Amino acid sequence: MCGGRRCESLIGVSCVGRLSGYVRAGVAHPEEAPLLREAVALLFEGRSEADATRWLASRGMLTPRGNEFRREVLHRLLTNPRLAGLDESGEPIESWVERVLEPDVFHRLQKLFADRSEKRGRPREAHDYLVTGGCALCEECTEPMVGSRAHADAPPSYKCDGCGKTRINADKLEGFVAEHVLAELLKPEARERLERLECDIEAEIGRLKAHIEGAEERFASLGDLYGRGLMVRAAFVAAQKASKEDLRTSKLRLKYLEQMTDLPVGDVHDLMAWWRTAPHASKRGLVLLEIEHVWVGRVEGSQAPERRVRLDWRQPAE
Ligand SMILES: [Zn+2]
Repeated sequence: MCGGRRCESLIGVSCVGRLSGYVRAGVAHPEEAPLLREAVALLFEGRSEADATRWLASRGMLTPRGNEFRREVLHRLLTNPRLAGLDESGEPIESWVERVLEPDVFHRLQKLFADRSEKRGRPREAHDYLVTGGCALCEECTEPMVGSRAHADAPPSYKCDGCGKTRINADKLEGFVAEHVLAELLKPEARERLERLECDIEAEIGRLKAHIEGAEERFASLGDLYGRGLMVRAAFVAAQKASKEDLRTSKLRLKYLEQMTDLPVGDVHDLMAWWRTAPHASKRGLVLLEIEHVWVGRVEGSQAPERRVRLDWRQPAE
Protein backbone atom coordinates (compact mmCIF):
# COMPACT_ATOMS: atom_id res chain seq x y z
CA MET A 1 0.00 0.00 0.00
CA CYS A 2 1.25 3.47 -0.76
CA GLY A 3 -0.32 5.33 2.17
CA GLY A 4 -1.25 8.98 1.98
CA ARG A 5 -4.55 10.72 1.56
CA ARG A 6 -5.36 9.19 -1.81
CA CYS A 7 -5.92 5.86 -0.13
CA GLU A 8 -8.64 7.29 2.08
CA SER A 9 -11.00 6.16 -0.61
CA LEU A 10 -10.24 2.59 0.37
CA ILE A 11 -11.89 3.08 3.71
CA GLY A 12 -14.92 4.67 2.17
CA VAL A 13 -14.29 8.42 2.45
CA SER A 14 -14.04 8.70 -1.28
CA CYS A 15 -13.00 12.15 -2.40
CA VAL A 16 -11.34 10.81 -5.52
CA GLY A 17 -12.90 9.98 -8.82
CA ARG A 18 -15.11 13.04 -9.07
CA LEU A 19 -14.81 15.00 -12.28
CA SER A 20 -12.86 18.27 -12.04
CA GLY A 21 -15.16 21.26 -12.02
CA TYR A 22 -17.87 19.39 -10.14
CA VAL A 23 -18.38 18.73 -6.45
CA ARG A 24 -20.36 15.70 -7.55
CA ALA A 25 -22.25 14.71 -10.68
CA GLY A 26 -24.31 17.67 -11.81
CA VAL A 27 -23.21 20.10 -9.09
CA ALA A 28 -20.57 22.62 -10.17
CA HIS A 29 -17.55 23.29 -7.98
CA PRO A 30 -17.63 26.95 -6.86
CA GLU A 31 -13.88 27.54 -7.37
CA GLU A 32 -12.94 25.06 -10.08
CA ALA A 33 -15.77 25.66 -12.54
CA PRO A 34 -14.97 29.40 -13.05
CA LEU A 35 -11.25 28.61 -13.42
CA LEU A 36 -11.99 25.98 -16.07
CA ARG A 37 -14.23 28.42 -17.95
CA GLU A 38 -11.37 30.95 -17.91
CA ALA A 39 -8.95 28.31 -19.19
CA VAL A 40 -11.33 27.50 -22.04
CA ALA A 41 -11.60 31.21 -22.85
CA LEU A 42 -7.80 31.29 -23.17
CA LEU A 43 -7.98 28.46 -25.74
CA PHE A 44 -10.56 30.37 -27.77
CA GLU A 45 -8.19 33.35 -27.70
CA GLY A 46 -5.69 31.16 -29.52
CA ARG A 47 -3.53 30.12 -26.59
CA SER A 48 -2.23 26.55 -26.44
CA GLU A 49 -3.35 23.80 -24.08
CA ALA A 50 0.09 24.00 -22.45
CA ASP A 51 -0.55 27.72 -21.77
CA ALA A 52 -3.97 26.97 -20.32
CA THR A 53 -2.46 24.25 -18.11
CA ARG A 54 0.20 26.65 -16.82
CA TRP A 55 -2.42 29.28 -16.17
CA LEU A 56 -4.49 26.81 -14.11
CA ALA A 57 -1.38 25.85 -12.15
CA SER A 58 -0.64 29.53 -11.49
CA ARG A 59 -4.12 29.81 -9.97
CA GLY A 60 -3.43 26.84 -7.72
CA MET A 61 -5.90 24.56 -9.49
CA LEU A 62 -5.32 20.89 -8.63
CA THR A 63 -6.95 17.70 -9.87
CA PRO A 64 -9.42 15.95 -7.55
CA ARG A 65 -6.54 13.73 -6.47
CA GLY A 66 -4.51 16.74 -5.42
CA ASN A 67 -2.06 16.63 -8.32
CA GLU A 68 -1.00 19.49 -10.51
CA PHE A 69 -2.85 19.66 -13.81
CA ARG A 70 -0.98 18.28 -16.80
CA ARG A 71 -1.73 18.96 -20.42
CA GLU A 72 -3.02 15.42 -21.07
CA VAL A 73 -5.25 15.49 -18.00
CA LEU A 74 -6.68 18.88 -19.00
CA HIS A 75 -7.27 17.71 -22.56
CA ARG A 76 -9.07 14.59 -21.38
CA LEU A 77 -11.23 16.69 -19.08
CA LEU A 78 -12.08 19.24 -21.77
CA THR A 79 -13.16 16.51 -24.19
CA ASN A 80 -15.39 14.85 -21.60
CA PRO A 81 -19.03 15.57 -22.53
CA ARG A 82 -19.97 15.51 -18.84
CA LEU A 83 -18.21 18.84 -18.53
CA ALA A 84 -21.28 20.17 -20.36
CA GLY A 85 -23.70 17.80 -18.66
CA LEU A 86 -23.96 15.69 -21.80
CA ASP A 87 -23.69 11.98 -22.34
CA GLU A 88 -21.48 10.53 -25.06
CA SER A 89 -24.19 10.77 -27.69
CA GLY A 90 -24.47 14.49 -26.91
CA GLU A 91 -27.78 14.24 -25.07
CA PRO A 92 -28.28 16.27 -21.88
CA ILE A 93 -28.10 14.04 -18.81
CA GLU A 94 -31.25 14.23 -16.74
CA SER A 95 -30.63 15.18 -13.11
CA TRP A 96 -27.65 17.32 -14.13
CA VAL A 97 -28.40 20.64 -12.43
CA GLU A 98 -25.31 22.73 -13.16
CA ARG A 99 -22.76 22.60 -15.95
CA VAL A 100 -19.16 23.73 -16.11
CA LEU A 101 -19.54 24.55 -19.81
CA GLU A 102 -22.66 25.26 -21.80
CA PRO A 103 -23.21 22.64 -24.52
CA ASP A 104 -22.63 25.12 -27.38
CA VAL A 105 -19.31 26.18 -25.82
CA PHE A 106 -18.33 22.53 -25.40
CA HIS A 107 -19.13 21.79 -29.06
CA ARG A 108 -17.18 24.84 -30.26
CA LEU A 109 -14.28 23.64 -28.14
CA GLN A 110 -14.32 20.15 -29.72
CA LYS A 111 -14.34 21.83 -33.14
CA LEU A 112 -11.32 23.89 -32.09
CA PHE A 113 -9.46 20.74 -30.99
CA ALA A 114 -10.33 18.99 -34.26
CA ASP A 115 -9.15 21.99 -36.31
CA ARG A 116 -5.91 22.20 -34.37
CA SER A 117 -5.17 18.50 -34.68
CA GLU A 118 -5.87 18.72 -38.41
CA LYS A 119 -3.39 21.57 -38.68
CA ARG A 120 -0.81 19.37 -37.00
CA GLY A 121 -1.30 17.02 -39.93
CA ARG A 122 -3.15 14.29 -38.16
CA PRO A 123 -6.11 13.28 -40.31
CA ARG A 124 -9.36 13.30 -38.40
CA GLU A 125 -10.21 9.76 -39.42
CA ALA A 126 -6.95 8.50 -37.92
CA HIS A 127 -7.52 5.50 -35.71
CA ASP A 128 -7.18 6.14 -31.97
CA TYR A 129 -5.13 3.16 -30.92
CA LEU A 130 -6.01 1.68 -27.54
CA VAL A 131 -2.91 -0.26 -26.45
CA THR A 132 0.09 1.42 -28.09
CA GLY A 133 2.95 3.12 -26.23
CA GLY A 134 4.47 -0.09 -24.86
CA CYS A 135 1.34 -1.92 -23.69
CA ALA A 136 1.03 -4.29 -26.65
CA LEU A 137 4.20 -6.31 -27.17
CA CYS A 138 5.32 -8.82 -29.78
CA GLU A 139 5.47 -12.32 -28.30
CA GLU A 140 8.19 -13.21 -30.76
CA CYS A 141 10.77 -10.48 -30.07
CA THR A 142 9.25 -8.62 -27.01
CA GLU A 143 9.39 -5.25 -28.82
CA PRO A 144 6.37 -2.88 -28.69
CA MET A 145 3.62 -3.05 -31.29
CA VAL A 146 2.91 0.26 -33.01
CA GLY A 147 -0.14 1.49 -34.89
CA SER A 148 0.25 1.08 -38.64
CA ARG A 149 -1.63 0.34 -41.81
CA ALA A 150 -0.27 -2.09 -44.36
CA HIS A 151 -1.14 0.52 -47.02
CA ALA A 152 -3.15 3.75 -47.12
CA ASP A 153 -6.54 2.05 -47.60
CA ALA A 154 -5.87 -0.90 -45.29
CA PRO A 155 -7.68 -1.12 -41.96
CA PRO A 156 -5.73 0.06 -38.91
CA SER A 157 -3.54 -2.61 -37.37
CA TYR A 158 -0.78 -3.16 -34.85
CA LYS A 159 2.62 -4.06 -36.19
CA CYS A 160 5.72 -5.15 -34.29
CA ASP A 161 8.29 -2.34 -34.20
CA GLY A 162 11.12 -4.86 -33.72
CA CYS A 163 10.96 -7.90 -35.97
CA GLY A 164 8.24 -6.27 -38.08
CA LYS A 165 6.69 -9.66 -38.72
CA THR A 166 3.88 -9.73 -36.19
CA ARG A 167 0.77 -7.84 -37.22
CA ILE A 168 -2.82 -7.92 -35.99
CA ASN A 169 -6.01 -6.13 -37.02
CA ALA A 170 -6.63 -3.24 -34.58
CA ASP A 171 -10.40 -3.67 -34.27
CA LYS A 172 -10.06 -7.37 -33.54
CA LEU A 173 -7.32 -6.87 -30.96
CA GLU A 174 -9.04 -3.94 -29.28
CA GLY A 175 -12.42 -5.67 -29.24
CA PHE A 176 -10.80 -8.64 -27.53
CA VAL A 177 -9.04 -6.43 -24.96
CA ALA A 178 -12.18 -4.36 -24.26
CA GLU A 179 -14.27 -7.49 -23.77
CA HIS A 180 -11.88 -8.76 -21.09
CA VAL A 181 -11.57 -5.39 -19.36
CA LEU A 182 -15.37 -5.14 -19.23
CA ALA A 183 -15.59 -8.60 -17.71
CA GLU A 184 -13.16 -7.40 -15.02
CA LEU A 185 -15.27 -4.30 -14.36
CA LEU A 186 -18.27 -6.49 -13.62
CA LYS A 187 -16.50 -8.12 -10.69
CA PRO A 188 -17.61 -6.77 -7.32
CA GLU A 189 -14.11 -5.81 -6.22
CA ALA A 190 -13.34 -3.94 -9.46
CA ARG A 191 -13.59 -0.43 -8.06
CA GLU A 192 -11.37 -1.12 -5.06
CA ARG A 193 -8.86 -2.81 -7.32
CA LEU A 194 -8.78 0.18 -9.70
CA GLU A 195 -8.22 2.58 -6.84
CA ARG A 196 -5.37 0.48 -5.48
CA LEU A 197 -3.80 0.35 -8.94
CA GLU A 198 -4.12 4.13 -9.25
CA CYS A 199 -2.40 4.54 -5.89
CA ASP A 200 0.49 2.41 -7.15
CA ILE A 201 0.74 4.42 -10.35
CA GLU A 202 0.70 7.72 -8.46
CA ALA A 203 3.49 6.42 -6.23
CA GLU A 204 5.56 5.43 -9.25
CA ILE A 205 4.93 8.84 -10.83
CA GLY A 206 6.21 10.47 -7.64
CA ARG A 207 9.40 8.38 -7.71
CA LEU A 208 9.96 9.05 -11.41
CA LYS A 209 9.51 12.79 -11.00
CA ALA A 210 12.07 12.86 -8.20
CA HIS A 211 14.43 10.83 -10.38
CA ILE A 212 13.94 13.20 -13.33
CA GLU A 213 14.43 16.24 -11.13
CA GLY A 214 17.69 14.77 -9.85
CA ALA A 215 19.08 14.40 -13.37
CA GLU A 216 20.74 17.80 -13.47
CA GLU A 217 22.62 17.06 -10.28
CA ARG A 218 23.74 13.69 -11.63
CA PHE A 219 24.95 15.34 -14.86
CA ALA A 220 26.82 17.96 -12.82
CA SER A 221 28.57 15.41 -10.62
CA LEU A 222 29.67 13.49 -13.73
CA GLY A 223 31.13 16.69 -15.16
CA ASP A 224 32.81 17.32 -11.86
CA LEU A 225 34.49 13.90 -11.82
CA TYR A 226 35.68 14.43 -15.38
CA GLY A 227 36.80 17.98 -14.66
CA ARG A 228 38.91 16.83 -11.71
CA GLY A 229 40.58 14.23 -13.89
CA LEU A 230 38.98 11.33 -12.01
CA MET A 231 37.34 9.99 -15.15
CA VAL A 232 38.79 9.41 -18.61
CA ARG A 233 37.02 11.05 -21.52
CA ALA A 234 35.64 7.84 -23.03
CA ALA A 235 34.09 6.84 -19.71
CA PHE A 236 32.68 10.33 -19.24
CA VAL A 237 31.10 10.35 -22.70
CA ALA A 238 29.65 6.86 -22.15
CA ALA A 239 28.26 7.78 -18.72
CA GLN A 240 26.79 11.01 -20.07
CA LYS A 241 25.12 9.14 -22.90
CA ALA A 242 23.70 6.55 -20.49
CA SER A 243 22.33 9.30 -18.22
CA LYS A 244 20.70 11.05 -21.14
CA GLU A 245 19.14 7.80 -22.32
CA ASP A 246 17.94 7.10 -18.78
CA LEU A 247 16.37 10.57 -18.61
CA ARG A 248 14.66 10.07 -21.94
CA THR A 249 13.22 6.66 -20.92
CA SER A 250 12.09 8.07 -17.57
CA LYS A 251 10.27 10.95 -19.26
CA LEU A 252 8.58 8.58 -21.71
CA ARG A 253 7.53 6.29 -18.86
CA LEU A 254 6.17 9.28 -16.93
CA LYS A 255 4.09 10.36 -19.89
CA TYR A 256 2.78 6.83 -20.27
CA LEU A 257 1.82 6.53 -16.60
CA GLU A 258 0.15 9.92 -16.55
CA GLN A 259 -2.47 8.65 -18.95
CA MET A 260 -3.72 6.30 -16.25
CA THR A 261 -4.28 8.87 -13.52
CA ASP A 262 -7.30 10.94 -12.59
CA LEU A 263 -9.79 8.62 -14.22
CA PRO A 264 -13.21 9.69 -13.02
CA VAL A 265 -14.33 6.17 -12.13
CA GLY A 266 -14.37 6.49 -8.35
CA ASP A 267 -17.89 7.82 -8.01
CA VAL A 268 -19.28 6.06 -11.05
CA HIS A 269 -22.12 3.79 -9.99
CA ASP A 270 -22.18 1.66 -13.04
CA LEU A 271 -18.74 1.06 -14.55
CA MET A 272 -20.27 -0.65 -17.58
CA ALA A 273 -22.40 2.38 -18.37
CA TRP A 274 -19.38 4.58 -17.80
CA TRP A 275 -17.42 2.52 -20.31
CA ARG A 276 -20.11 2.85 -22.96
CA THR A 277 -20.04 6.65 -22.80
CA ALA A 278 -16.45 7.40 -21.73
CA PRO A 279 -14.18 9.39 -24.08
CA HIS A 280 -11.51 7.36 -25.86
CA ALA A 281 -8.68 8.79 -23.76
CA SER A 282 -10.39 7.68 -20.54
CA LYS A 283 -11.00 4.19 -21.90
CA ARG A 284 -7.39 3.99 -22.92
CA GLY A 285 -6.33 5.13 -19.45
CA LEU A 286 -8.47 2.47 -17.84
CA VAL A 287 -7.21 -0.29 -20.13
CA LEU A 288 -3.57 0.68 -19.52
CA LEU A 289 -4.27 0.73 -15.80
CA GLU A 290 -5.83 -2.73 -15.81
CA ILE A 291 -3.53 -4.42 -18.28
CA GLU A 292 0.22 -4.19 -18.02
CA HIS A 293 0.91 -5.94 -21.30
CA VAL A 294 -0.96 -7.38 -24.24
CA TRP A 295 1.22 -10.07 -25.81
CA VAL A 296 0.57 -10.71 -29.48
CA GLY A 297 1.82 -13.92 -31.07
CA ARG A 298 2.52 -14.64 -34.73
CA VAL A 299 -0.22 -16.14 -36.81
CA GLU A 300 -0.19 -19.89 -36.70
CA GLY A 301 -3.17 -21.06 -38.64
CA SER A 302 -5.74 -18.96 -36.81
CA GLN A 303 -6.15 -15.17 -36.97
CA ALA A 304 -8.49 -15.22 -33.97
CA PRO A 305 -7.24 -13.10 -31.05
CA GLU A 306 -8.24 -15.90 -28.64
CA ARG A 307 -5.44 -17.97 -30.14
CA ARG A 308 -2.84 -15.24 -30.47
CA VAL A 309 -3.27 -12.78 -27.61
CA ARG A 310 -2.33 -13.12 -23.95
CA LEU A 311 -3.19 -10.48 -21.35
CA ASP A 312 -0.93 -9.62 -18.39
CA TRP A 313 -3.12 -7.98 -15.74
CA ARG A 314 -1.51 -5.38 -13.54
CA GLN A 315 -1.35 -6.56 -9.94
CA PRO A 316 -1.74 -4.10 -7.07
CA ALA A 317 1.36 -3.87 -4.86
CA GLU A 318 0.92 -5.63 -1.53
ZN1 LIG B 1 8.43 -8.78 -33.12
